[in-house]
Amino acid sequence: MVRFLLALAAVALLPFAAAQAQPAAPDGLKVIFCGTSGPLPIPDRAKACTAVIAGGKLYLVDAGPESTKNLLSWRAPLARAQALFITHLHSDHIGDVGEVNMQSWVAGRPQPLALVGPSGVDKLAAGFNLAYETDHGFRRAHHEHGDIKLPIDAGLLAPKVIEIAKPDGTAVAWKDGDLTVTAIRVAHDPVTPAFGYRFDYHGRSVVISGDTRKWPPLAAAAKGADVLIHEAQNNAMTRQMSQGLAAMGMARTSSIMADTVSYHTEPVEAADIARMAGVKVLVLSHLTQAGLPFYTPQAFTKGMDDGGKLDWRLAKDGMTIDLPAGSSEIRFGSY
Ligand SMILES: [Zn+2]
Ligand SMILES: [Zn+2]
Repeated sequence: MVRFLLALAAVALLPFAAAQAQPAAPDGLKVIFCGTSGPLPIPDRAKACTAVIAGGKLYLVDAGPESTKNLLSWRAPLARAQALFITHLHSDHIGDVGEVNMQSWVAGRPQPLALVGPSGVDKLAAGFNLAYETDHGFRRAHHEHGDIKLPIDAGLLAPKVIEIAKPDGTAVAWKDGDLTVTAIRVAHDPVTPAFGYRFDYHGRSVVISGDTRKWPPLAAAAKGADVLIHEAQNNAMTRQMSQGLAAMGMARTSSIMADTVSYHTEPVEAADIARMAGVKVLVLSHLTQAGLPFYTPQAFTKGMDDGGKLDWRLAKDGMTIDLPAGSSEIRFGSY
């Protein structure tokens, strides 16, 4: 038993040790890919989640199902979570909102978690607060003793609705010291409004597209950013899947799958947007087909290099990007 516990402790320390092995980055931006799949069930990929650390504080963009498990496994600094930015209210982006809120509160987060996003995050916050009310009461009753405090107020989600009237508009969604987070209207109709987000901190910048069809105003909002993290769906593969499902007699699933070609971006189109924006690196995430039986990275990204030189990569869960302040370095790593 003792040996098992020691082994468990060693495993638990591994990600921390790996993180420590890297030279300490100067204060800049750090990105952690906590979920990189689309809505389909993909082994080793949680659904939409991107974490950004700035000034020692943790911010999340979306909390799709299974993403909290990743964050806990990697011992991400959940107690320092400040805000969860929601791109839109599709379930593959919000399924773990309750879990990440609860876990960051239990980890010691001293204030409510801001839930920032389009109209609807107010209902989302109210719903999850109600759904977890009893759980929070149980945890406080059981674990609050000595120095351990679990104030109920700190465990709540605090909604902040961002209004952007113009379809191609932007708005400041969050400001904390030198960090500015800008919400960007994107095009995911009939899901409207839907947002992407741009993080600017100490001269470094990261843009996260959210779900959108190819949308040139996003390129304008991402102008000159260090990293563009863009969703990607290969629609030749989507149509192939839809036809396969129809041939298997699954007409309903086939029809629903065919509908999705209208509101996502092809890898080739994301490359166009990245070139228009002049970003240094494009990272494709929310990869609808990655991990499916017929998927190969080569087929998925076919044609991406045709439009000209571009540094691009495919995200996977656990991938990290460090953007140290006062430098132009873009350092990829992993948990
Ligand atoms: Zn999605
Ligand atoms: Zn969506």
